[in-house]
Amino acid sequence: MFQRILYYSGNPIEIGFLIQMKFLFKEFKPSDKPLSLIGKNASDDEFCSEALKKVSRSFSVVIHQLPKELQDPVQLFYLILRGLDTVEDDMSLPEKRKDELLTQFSSLINQQEFSLTNVGDTQDYRDLMANFEKVVRKYQLLDEKYKVVITDITERMATGMKKYAHTKVKSLHDWDDYCYYVAGLVGIGLSKLFLSSGIETNSRLENEALSNEMGLFLQKTNIIRDYAEDLDQERIFWPSDVWSKYVFSINQLQQNKEKGMVVVNELICNALSHIPSCLEYLESLSNEKVFRFCAIPQLMAIETLKKLYCNELVLTESVKIRKGKTARFFMSKQNFKNVVSEFKKVLLEMNKIQKNEQIVTIINHIETTYGRK
Ligand code: CA
Repeated sequence: MFQRILYYSGNPIEIGFLIQMKFLFKEFKPSDKPLSLIGKNASDDEFCSEALKKVSRSFSVVIHQLPKELQDPVQLFYLILRGLDTVEDDMSLPEKRKDELLTQFSSLINQQEFSLTNVGDTQDYRDLMANFEKVVRKYQLLDEKYKVVITDITERMATGMKKYAHTKVKSLHDWDDYCYYVAGLVGIGLSKLFLSSGIETNSRLENEALSNEMGLFLQKTNIIRDYAEDLDQERIFWPSDVWSKYVFSINQLQQNKEKGMVVVNELICNALSHIPSCLEYLESLSNEKVFRFCAIPQLMAIETLKKLYCNELVLTESVKIRKGKTARFFMSKQNFKNVVSEFKKVLLEMNKIQKNEQIVTIINHIETTYGRK
């Protein structure tokens, strides 16, 4: 405890936010009972909300901060894509069976009583899939306008999962394409859910390219951050066109820190290039709760990129931002003006760490578009 106080003494404001966040997260503490047991007695509603707490507590917190009308559609959108991802990630599934399941998933959710036994690489995921009919039943009660969106995105994402089961990410174009399937589509789906609800109305949200970039920015940040962890599990998501200019094999970057840093920074600048679109997207949101839901992950991503920039630790471990920073983003009020100045502030700090033309260009763009203040 004492050590913690020392640690945060340099950031006194963060302590307050941390305490607030602790209380908030307490409300969403998953049950001690296994999901399989909950599945036996709980209603479909209870099961879905418990399943979400088990597989992603932070997402279950942020969904509750959305307008009431959007909570169920977004919850089911998440659980269904999580189900699809569970199929994709299960390395013990025979390839043919996996391919079939991915292909059929979007039509299966539109049939009654669909569940899968023994699919999933953790117990929580296996329990989720074994009780998936509860998720499906709740999904089917949704308004048609939401089901159309969820079905469409599920189908498109499955196409990408099948494609990247056999394709490697080579060029920067492949990197965009891969991230479109795993994250851009989530952004596109969310925009459509916002519009369908009538809570958001700006026609810019219909522009799939813009929503896609919201997802790309987040996904690329995770991919850069998780290099060491992914390499440990023999997964490679860094585009080979970028690193193969410097080394023959991607793990050589761990020994050759200088080249490693050139690659990391090149990838970071590529991710930063999505910022103008991300800001344009955020500017078009009118509902305060929807805005928070979209802005908080973006703020955490840019903060993460700053921490990764010129940081050799990226090559050997997953570098995370301070919990107090996360708490500040989670608990403080957000509006577009604050977000623009936070983005600009972080970019200026990055350019101070090491001067970079691409970063300066983005800063200039922000100043010409949203003013110097
Ligand atoms: Ca996956």
